Amino acid sequence: MSASYSKKNWMQFLKPFVKRFIGGESLKEALATLQNLKKEGFKTTLDYLGESVTNRDQALEATQEYIRNLRELNPLGLDKNISIKLTQIGLDIDEGFAKQNLIEIVKTAKTMNGFVRVDMEGSAYTEASLRLVSQAHQEIPCIGAVLQTMLRRTAQDVLLLIKKGVRIRLVKGAYKEPISIAFQDKRDVDAQYVTIMKRLLTSGIYHAIATHDEKIINEAETFVGKMGLKKDSFEFQMLLGIRADLARQLVKEGWNVRIYVPYGKAWFPYFMRRLRERRENVWFVIKNLFRGS
Ligand SMILES: Cc1cc2nc3c(=O)[nH]c(=O)nc-3n(C[C@H](O)[C@H](O)[C@H](O)COP(=O)(O)OP(=O)(O)OC[C@H]3O[C@@H](n4cnc5c(N)ncnc54)[C@H](O)[C@@H]3O)c2cc1C
Repeated sequence: MSASYSKKNWMQFLKPFVKRFIGGESLKEALATLQNLKKEGFKTTLDYLGESVTNRDQALEATQEYIRNLRELNPLGLDKNISIKLTQIGLDIDEGFAKQNLIEIVKTAKTMNGFVRVDMEGSAYTEASLRLVSQAHQEIPCIGAVLQTMLRRTAQDVLLLIKKGVRIRLVKGAYKEPISIAFQDKRDVDAQYVTIMKRLLTSGIYHAIATHDEKIINEAETFVGKMGLKKDSFEFQMLLGIRADLARQLVKEGWNVRIYVPYGKAWFPYFMRRLRERRENVWFVIKNLFRGS
């Protein structure tokens, strides 16, 4: 393999591995993926890939793409549910600009009874993300937040958001964070997940338990039974291409399951996070890299 292996070559090489995790590079392909998932009984959320945008025109383009997504989903009878990243719509440029774009997207969602989930990015954006979601939620409630249980602050954030009636997607966290603010031991991240999950499930608000961790999912099911909660008082969420077997089983058992479907050409950072989450994924790519060289 040449030392001057360019980024373009890397992208070409990685493409076949990426397919598993994304709904396609175009909206048309993504919509077909959503339709297939719907046939299987899943709920869906659509994500237009992109982040860390520093150019105003690109941020405006992403905002318009999200609005277009909502308008395309509506007549097809698909869930008008999208997941967006604030750094994609201008948070790295100016918070006021990002807020304006966010409000425009959420207002469009409201006209069709849709829903906008603001993904949570690295800890540099936690405070601003929660601020913008809370501000938008006051004006238009069809918006929800994401909290990461690897962050120590989440124990407090969850109480504030519940008080405001904001719907939460609970995740472990996909970004590398320093020990000063984040648990480094998986056991601590999981323990905080379970504690907060139980708090969410008894909050009377429709939240999302987003994990592929079978042990935690079993714990959620047991807890819901023990507390006499309704099966449809919350939803499980999973990423496209991960534990599809478990997702199908949950649907069969009558649980609400939403699949997160990203699409677009800017898949590189998303794919790298999926690789990092699981050592086997990295080995799979490396093995094939040397086989191909
Ligand atoms: C719907 C959804 C939305 C998300 N949104 C955000 C967000 O906004 N911000 C954020 O920081 N994170 C987000 N995440 C990612 C999350 O933070 C975790 O990084 C990711 O879900 C892996 O953790 P886990 O809960 O599945 O548990 P883990 O303990 O990491 O994994 C449990 C099991 O799931 C399977 N698994 C997990 N990851 C992979 C993988 N990449 N490839 C193959 N198998 C895998 C394995 O079988 C593993 O044993 C989201 C996750 C989901 C499901």
